[in-house]
Amino acid sequence: MPKTIHELDAVTIDQIAAGEVVERPAGAVKELVENAIDAGATMITIEIEDGGIGMLRVTDNGEGIEASQVRKAFLRHATSKIETISDLFSLHSLGFRGEALSSIAAVSRVEMITRTKEALTGVRYCIEGGREMSFEEVGAPEGTTIVARNLFYNTPAREKFLKKPQTEAMHVADLAEHLAIAHPEISFRFISNHTDRFHTSGSGDLKENIYRIFGRDIAASILPIDGEEGGLHLTGYLGKPAINRASRSHELFFVNGRFVRDRMLSAALEEGYRAYLMQHKFPFAVLNVSLPPDQVDVNVHPTKMEVRFGNSFAVSGTLTRIVADTLSGSEMIPDALLDEKSDRELGYDYAERNAVQRFSVPAVAEPFETGLFQEANERADPYTEASFEETKHKDQSQLLAFGLSGKPIVMSDHAADTDPQEGEIPRILSDAARPEYRILGQLFDTYWVIACRDKLLLLDQHAAHEKVNYEKMMKRYHEHETISQMIDPPVIVSLTPAEEEMLTRHAAVFRKLGFEIEAFGARSVAIRGIPLDLYGAADERTFFLEILDELSENTLPDRDPVAVTQRIASMACKASVKGNTRMTIEEVSSLLDQMMTLENPYHCPHGRPTLIIMSRYEIDKRFKRVVD
Ligand code: ADP
Ligand code: MG
Repeated sequence: MPKTIHELDAVTIDQIAAGEVVERPAGAVKELVENAIDAGATMITIEIEDGGIGMLRVTDNGEGIEASQVRKAFLRHATSKIETISDLFSLHSLGFRGEALSSIAAVSRVEMITRTKEALTGVRYCIEGGREMSFEEVGAPEGTTIVARNLFYNTPAREKFLKKPQTEAMHVADLAEHLAIAHPEISFRFISNHTDRFHTSGSGDLKENIYRIFGRDIAASILPIDGEEGGLHLTGYLGKPAINRASRSHELFFVNGRFVRDRMLSAALEEGYRAYLMQHKFPFAVLNVSLPPDQVDVNVHPTKMEVRFGNSFAVSGTLTRIVADTLSGSEMIPDALLDEKSDRELGYDYAERNAVQRFSVPAVAEPFETGLFQEANERADPYTEASFEETKHKDQSQLLAFGLSGKPIVMSDHAADTDPQEGEIPRILSDAARPEYRILGQLFDTYWVIACRDKLLLLDQHAAHEKVNYEKMMKRYHEHETISQMIDPPVIVSLTPAEEEMLTRHAAVFRKLGFEIEAFGARSVAIRGIPLDLYGAADERTFFLEILDELSENTLPDRDPVAVTQRIASMACKASVKGNTRMTIEEVSSLLDQMMTLENPYHCPHGRPTLIIMSRYEIDKRFKRVVD
C-alpha cells in the first residue's frame, strides 16, 4: 500500500502544540498569568480545583481584549506583542509566540470573559477543543478572566501523563509562589479547592511578600541582601542559618525577573553559607540576580526554568562573595517573633487570631490521601541530588568504600577476610562474640574503640544510637504500639502550600508514628503530640519542617509506602540523637547489646556506617609484619 501524506488540520496541530506549551496545569497557569502581567494587571487571582485538571481560572484587572480581537487571540501564532522578527529584540513582554491561548483552547473547555476600559460591555467567549461554542455580549468588570475546564479531556494520551490532582496542585502552588515572589508589585491570590492559600498585597515589599507566602517563622529569620559587583546586582533575602532546610526547595533564584533553577547558582549560594550550615542542610533564600541582558539568556527554553550565563564563573564567584559578606556582617540568632509593630504594619494581628483559634480547632480541610510518592521524581528539579552531592563527598569516598548492602565497612582489600556475611568467619556483632568485646575507650568524643578476637572495631556512637532508636520506632510502628508524648503548649507551625500538601498526603503515617497534629487556621498546624522517643530531644518545629522538606525532595527510591514511613522515622530518630556528647562505658555497652539484636546493625537509617572493622591481618600488613 502506498503511503498517503496528510495535511494535519488546525485542531490537530494545536493539540500537538498544546503538549509542548502547557504540558500540565501549572504550564497553562503560567501562560495565563504571564498574559495577565503583560496586560498590565495589578491584581491576579489564580484558582484551581483538582490540581487544575478539573478547573483552572486566572482573573486579572489588566487592559482586557477588545471584542473584535477576541476570536483572533485564540488563533495559533496570534499575538499582539510582535509583528516582525525585529520586534523580538526590543521585546519586554513575557510571551510572544502566540501559542498559549490556542493551545489551551485546543485541549480543554475554555470560557473567557473580558472587557477593555473603553468598552461599555464585555464579551463572553466559549471555545471547546478548539471549536467555538458561543460568543456573546455580557456585563463584565474591566480585565480578563479565563477558565479552562477538563484539561486534556480530548487528548487521552496526554491526560495519561498527568499526575494525581494533589501533585498537580503542588506544582501550581510552587508556580504561584514563584510568580508572587517575583512580582511583589502585583497582588496575587491563590485558591486551591476553595481554600485560600495565600494572598499578597501588591505593596511592592518583598519582605512582606515572604511573610504572606512562607509565613511568620520564616519572615522572622531573614536578612536583607543587597550587593553589586561587575555588573551583577544581587538583592533579596537570606534565611538565617537557624531556618535551614533539608532540601533545595527554598533556594529561589530570579534572574532578570524570571524564576530559574540552576545548579551553579545553588552551589554558589551554598558556598557562601559554608561556614554556617551543616552538611546536607540548605539555606532559605530569595535572590534577585540582575545582569545586563547581553550577559545572560533566560529564554533558553520558554517553558523551562533554565538559564545560560555569558561568564558563569564570574557570576558564581560574585554571588558567593556577596552572600558570605552579608552573612558575616549579621547577627545570626533568629528573632523569636516579629515584634508587634511589624506585625501590625503587615496587617496581621496574630495575637487576636490565635486567641480565637485556640478554642476552636477547625477540621482538617482536605481528605486524607493514601497515595504516595508516585510523582516525586517529576518535581521540577533539573539536577539530581546524587550527582550534586558527589563532589562534596569525594574526599570521604576516597578513604572508605561505602558499602550499602548491610555489610560492615572493612578497611582491607581482602573483604572476604573479615566479612561476617561470608559465612566462614563468625559474626562479630553477635551474642556469641559479645562476651569477648573489650571496650578500650572513647575517641574524639564520637567514636568508641573496641577489640574483639582478632578485630578492631570503631563504633560511631551517634550512628549506632540512631540506628537502635530507629529500629525500635519501626518495630512499635508495625506492632501498633507507638506512644505519643503530648506537649503543652502545642507548637504552632506555619506551612507553605507544598508543606501542607506533604502533610495532608502522609497524615496517616505521621499519626501512626505518634505525631498528633491538628489544623490551626488556614496555613498553620498545631503539633500537640510527638513520638515518645523524641520527647525533649530536639526542637520540634525545626525537625518537623525538616521531615516535610525531606519528603518533598525527589529522592525517594520508589513508590513504596514503606519508604515514606522509613523516611519519617529516620528523620525523627536523627532528631533524637544528641551530637557530640560524652557517653559512659555502661551506656556504650548497653548500646552494643541492643545492636546485637538488629538485623542490620552495620548502617544507620541513612546508609552511613555505624561501625568500621579492621582485621589484625590488615594491621599487621600495615606494619609490614606480613607480606600479603
Ligand atoms: P502571546 O502571549 O504569545 O501573544 P497568547 O496566545 O498567550 O499569545 O495570547 C494571544 C493574545 O491574546 C496576546 O498577544 C494578547 O494580545 C491577548 N491576551 C491574552 N491574554 C490576555 C489578557 N489576560 N489580557 C489582555 N490580553 C490578553
Ligand atoms: Mg502569552
